[in-house]
Amino acid sequence: MNKECVLVVLKPDVVAKGLIGIILDRFSGAGMDLLAIKILSVSQDLAQRHYQHLKEQRFYKEIIKYLQGKLHDGHKAVALVYSGKNVIQRCRDIAGATNPEDADPRSIRGSMGRITTEGVFENLIHVSSDRKEACREIKLWFSPDEISGDLFPTRDEVLENYKKKVWK
Ligand code: UDP
Ligand code: MG
Repeated sequence: MNKECVLVVLKPDVVAKGLIGIILDRFSGAGMDLLAIKILSVSQDLAQRHYQHLKEQRFYKEIIKYLQGKLHDGHKAVALVYSGKNVIQRCRDIAGATNPEDADPRSIRGSMGRITTEGVFENLIHVSSDRKEACREIKLWFSPDEISGDLFPTRDEVLENYKKKVWK
């Protein structure tokens, strides 16, 4: 299989529980290249666009809150882009099955995930499901200048009245 890329998101429970290091360690040494990493507060708009295909699901409202950190004291999320051979399936294997109770006990979700009393799978981590979703999600979470290398084609746009924070 050719080289592909994937979006991995450490959801806010990872940050709240102090598990960033231990989870990133599960990915290190797996022969994947880390192309981007950032910590961010997930807006409602980003969460809704990320999970747009799950809008009709009964758990939709809760996972929007979950991704925004609203179930975990407003904690942030950590977003990463990895690239490598067969990296989507490999990252999904490291993550484990969606339901922490069904996940391999050695996987991230199987060893550290939980199900809340409201029934939300607090499974710590998001991994893109396929190449098309990976492309959509990476473009949603990252701008071109946040990613090392030329992952996707870009174009130059001149913006007028564009406000940007710069160092004092
Ligand atoms: N989820 C849930 N209950 C379910 C199915 C999904 O709480 O019955 C949550 C879970 O946090 C999951 C997210 O919704 O990670 C997105 O669901 P998806 O089916 O895309 O699972 P994933 O691709 O994350 O394994
Ligand atoms: Mg999914």
